[in-house]
Amino acid sequence: MLERCRHCPSQLAHPLRWRRLAYDAWEIELRCPDCRETWQERVPTEAVKRLDTVLKTARAELERHLEEIERIDLEERISGFVSALGTDAILPEDFGRPPVP
Ligand SMILES: [Zn+2]
Repeated sequence: MLERCRHCPSQLAHPLRWRRLAYDAWEIELRCPDCRETWQERVPTEAVKRLDTVLKTARAELERHLEEIERIDLEERISGFVSALGTDAILPEDFGRPPVP
């Protein structure tokens, strides 16, 4: 569970650097975004692969959240525009050519 911080309860630790020491040994430098501690660990390849999967899953989840936020924002803008149209707050002149100087 490399994503677990060694200094606080956070589970958001992420790698800063990793390098292979041997066939099945990696040195990985991790950082916690919550307490800002950094530390190093020596782990087998399996642990590095597992962390990679955890990071990819977290990234996909973050992207889904972002898409959802963008969708909600767009819906709010559309409904704001529609209600402005309904109350004649937006007129054809709003889309007219800019005034000639
Ligand atoms: Zn921490």
